[in-house]
Amino acid sequence: MAGMMAERKPAGDRARHLGWGLLIGVGVGLGLRAAAEQGWGGATLPETVARQVLDPAGQIFLRLLLLAVVPLVFASIALGVLELGRSRGLGRMAWLTFLLFGLNMSVAVGLGLVGMNWVEPGRGVSAMEAGAVESNAGGTSPDREGRRPELSPSALVDMFLPKNWIRAVVDFQLLPVITFALLFGWAARTVDGPSAARVQELLAALVRVMFRMVDLAMALAPVGVAALVAVAVMRMGLELLAALAGFVAVVIGAMLLHAVGVLGWVVWRWGGWSPLRFWRATRLALLTAFCTSSSAATLPTSLAVARDRLGLRAATTAFVLPLGATMNMSGTALYEGCVVLFVAQVYGADLAWVDQLTLLVLAVASAVAVASVPGASLPVIMGLLAQFRLPPEGIALVLGVDRLLDMARTTLNVAADLVTACVVDRVTGRADSDEMQQGRPADVGSGSDAVADQG
Ligand code: ASP
Repeated sequence: MAGMMAERKPAGDRARHLGWGLLIGVGVGLGLRAAAEQGWGGATLPETVARQVLDPAGQIFLRLLLLAVVPLVFASIALGVLELGRSRGLGRMAWLTFLLFGLNMSVAVGLGLVGMNWVEPGRGVSAMEAGAVESNAGGTSPDREGRRPELSPSALVDMFLPKNWIRAVVDFQLLPVITFALLFGWAARTVDGPSAARVQELLAALVRVMFRMVDLAMALAPVGVAALVAVAVMRMGLELLAALAGFVAVVIGAMLLHAVGVLGWVVWRWGGWSPLRFWRATRLALLTAFCTSSSAATLPTSLAVARDRLGLRAATTAFVLPLGATMNMSGTALYEGCVVLFVAQVYGADLAWVDQLTLLVLAVASAVAVASVPGASLPVIMGLLAQFRLPPEGIALVLGVDRLLDMARTTLNVAADLVTACVVDRVTGRADSDEMQQGRPADVGSGSDAVADQG
């Protein structure tokens, strides 16, 4: 959420350097591996370089990123709930929009998880045995045995409302943080106007500050990624690269399936558009999303495309598209689920179906909180990894390909917003005209508010 994110410096340029970080890391890693095999420079030299130089360099980057996780997730969710409650009531249009957002994200995560379970790209590698991306300075250990959560009522209460909140935060447990943020945002809505406005301002400022910190971490990302990947490749060899290629193929495949199969069908069945004509009409917005990796930066183009090319009513687009750009992140949710499962596979950890169901719910809930800017889901994914007792540093495995996948997931995010706008416009438009014929005033819900808001 957090629409104020536009102020943040674009991370696109830095993210582009991640590809170089990956390549350099692979080169250094292969060099160190060859040195270890050939005994160049003494038997212990490559391991010493990895432990004393590369590991600490990678950890500086990762820990800076980790610092932002809890405050960022808390502030974005609480702010979202507060903003939503203060600005709008929930009319028919709003309910339909939220229902479609939820379904869209859930199906997308489901497709990603099915693909990852089917192909299992991370299975051939065992980072855990090799300790490949774990810090010698003490990363979180993946917990293979204690993984199956009980689903008894008291276990569920513990999961959402732990006895010790401080420990939950220290362990990067995201679920209690989300619960707290939702309750906090709801409670802040119900206090008097000036206090609620102050809390809203404070949360917005906190989100902005945390994003500055993410920017700082991302400035070090190319070096951090090179160091982490070099250690991983040195210990795991080319197996890791094959696994990574498999991961990219599964993520892109699941995204294409969601776009062409699910969204194409929905826009044909309920949006009144043939999929081919729809993709052609919206290609400017999709291309902008692909190039900028930012749903927020694409919003003006999406609004123009929805009005000029799709001919949607202003009441619909003014409500659905801005909200979609901040909340409706099917590409992001799909990606989050895939990364967690990939890291679990690489670390040899089994995620039972109950865990994967929890992952689906968490991926959807946390994607809503992801800001619509490049690379915004990375800190959230680290929180998700910790929630499943996987080492947050496992994210390093995918950082080198994150730029490409960010372009793809943002395109899917924007495509789903436009499909939702078509469906909502058609369904509510039809209902409105039925009501007019029966002489009743049409309930355009918050769409009319949104238009009024825009002046
Ligand atoms: N770049 C994505 C967007 O703007 C968010 C993310 O997944 O990082 O939609």
